[in-house]
Amino acid sequence: MAGVWSDCDAAACVDQYAPAWGEALALRVYTSRLLGADPSLVLHGGGNTSLKGEHTDVLGETRPALFVKASGFDLATIEPEGLPGLDLGHLRRLLALESLSDAAMVNELRTHLFRHDAATPSIETLVHAAIPARYVDHTHADAILTLTNQADGEALVREVLGDDVVVLPYVKAGFQLARAVAAACAEHPDARGMVWMRHGVVTWGDSARESVERMLELVAAAEDGIAKRATRPLRVMRATAPAEAEARLTSVAPVLRGLLAQPSGDDDRPWRRVIVRALATRETLDFLGAEGARELACTPTVTSDHLIRTRALPLWVEDAPTDDAEALRAHLRAALDGYAREYEAYVDRHRERLPEGVTPPDAMPRVVLIPGIGAVCAGEDVRAADVARDITAQTLAVKARVAAMGRYEGLPERDLFDMEFYTLQQAKLRGAEPRLGRQVAVVTGAAGAIGSGIARGLLREGCHVAVTDLGGERLDSLAAELREAFGERVTGVALDVTDPDSAAAAFDAVARTWGGVDLVVVNAGLAHVSTLAEMSVERFRQLERVNIDGTLTLLQRAARHFAVQGTGGDVVLVSTKNVFAPGASFGAYSATKAASHQLARIASLELAPLGVRVNMVAPDAVFSDGARRSGLWQEVGPDRMKARGLDEQGLEDYYRDRNLLKARITADHVARAVVFFAARETPTTGATLPVDGGLPDATPR
Ligand code: ZN
Repeated sequence: MAGVWSDCDAAACVDQYAPAWGEALALRVYTSRLLGADPSLVLHGGGNTSLKGEHTDVLGETRPALFVKASGFDLATIEPEGLPGLDLGHLRRLLALESLSDAAMVNELRTHLFRHDAATPSIETLVHAAIPARYVDHTHADAILTLTNQADGEALVREVLGDDVVVLPYVKAGFQLARAVAAACAEHPDARGMVWMRHGVVTWGDSARESVERMLELVAAAEDGIAKRATRPLRVMRATAPAEAEARLTSVAPVLRGLLAQPSGDDDRPWRRVIVRALATRETLDFLGAEGARELACTPTVTSDHLIRTRALPLWVEDAPTDDAEALRAHLRAALDGYAREYEAYVDRHRERLPEGVTPPDAMPRVVLIPGIGAVCAGEDVRAADVARDITAQTLAVKARVAAMGRYEGLPERDLFDMEFYTLQQAKLRGAEPRLGRQVAVVTGAAGAIGSGIARGLLREGCHVAVTDLGGERLDSLAAELREAFGERVTGVALDVTDPDSAAAAFDAVARTWGGVDLVVVNAGLAHVSTLAEMSVERFRQLERVNIDGTLTLLQRAARHFAVQGTGGDVVLVSTKNVFAPGASFGAYSATKAASHQLARIASLELAPLGVRVNMVAPDAVFSDGARRSGLWQEVGPDRMKARGLDEQGLEDYYRDRNLLKARITADHVARAVVFFAARETPTTGATLPVDGGLPDATPR
């Protein structure tokens, strides 16, 4: 088990945090991370921990304090700031009330923090206040949920964990749970822990170590109890190899992602898309191919904490016809329509308990289970989709273990509804989504100066970006550098624009990674300096293959992909000022870029009926983006410097001085122009935006 106390690690945490925060809180941070590091105890921000201590204010007055995990923080990576302090005396007085609405409770918490700018404390804060012990730990451990989510689960928990563990029936997290916990603590002062049915487990102690070790003991005891009883593993009726599942996913993902997108009512940005992540491990595929899997999987979540990520129920899709795109679309649409009808009926059944100000969200599933393919999980970005995916892996594992020893029983619908819509209300506090947060872009020629600048510009707006270029070190180092800054929203994919099969394979790889593609930035290009009289025809053809054939290949691929996905799309071509104002000795570049520009204009005519916009940005020379030199620079820079008798700085000055604004054109400027089109600020297609500081001869016409 990952969470084993280490004197050495504890001392390191004390050294780091005790000087500013005190030893007690430093150890609180240490054991919180111990719990957070073990995904079988808590997943992605689940669970919470606390410490009771004191706070002295500016008047020198000291009062009891509760330091409790704030919502939105993850135990695995928590810092002292993630455990804001509150007035414990006030929290205890609140527990004497008969009732307190959720909104009033959050108000009391926020107004009794010691710091005005602290994060909002966990909705389980009052539970921590209700337990007398100094340290309190709460997790949603898999093994505990395996015991609590069964018919006759209460008796089973008592049998396995013994009489000194209190068992509470399910009570919604918040004020009523805190009241129930306070009463149980008063009644069982010697208890060493508490299990909340279909929710999780709590332990406590006078020291950080005592509390966390009790947690680990209870979980180990639960594991033992399960191991003795789980004697009927699922029977796999249909085995699928992961590679086979992946091949099917390639055709299913864009169709499913397209159907999961919801109309937004905004003509410029008509779809609220999702990012999808697939779970297709051997265990998942075996589960989905097992006897009785559908009945077992289509049951409520194992803990209410997961509702906002996965919804109460997944969608099960049987017999998906993966080799016929139209049949597949019809099949998936019928399944999603059925899910939506049931979700809307569920909301209708409980509408009178909808919290004020909360409107029901879209009626689409967040988890789609497809035997032979896996679990396809959706979220507003890759992080949300990954959380849904990890929760789904855990949920299926828990349900399989329950089935091996008993009968799964989740929360009743009414409790599910209350918790789903309560957490939804909380989630609204988290603020607005980034502009391109639900989008996936493919950028070609990304290892060059302009391409890397565009990728970074899109990533800053929340976009998911596949950086593509010829495979090799330049691409690998760019992908690694961007992943460092932007995490899972970056993938590097080898793509040779002169090879249609390579382009198709790259689009397939992106579809398997995030579900599809919404924006294609056609940026890869080659330059060559030569007069017409001296030009090598073979060199000219090389430029044709990259600049013209490559553009055609990408436009074709984008058109086909957007048609399958069915939610429109965008193409931005990185054109050049040379299309409008060609330069002597630059014929191969100017002519082939003019052809690619014209292809893009034609694409704007042909793809408009699909809701696809095609626009061009026309920069003047950009030679570098940080340390990344452009191919244009390599071809043109030394030659131009020599011809004009300039050094590197002199050449940049030369390009700057030739425009009206005396502007130095950067990759970042080009990126902003791409973002303008990608964000669909205006109803524009077939247009060219110059990024050149004002070159009257090159004004598009
Ligand atoms: Zn909880």
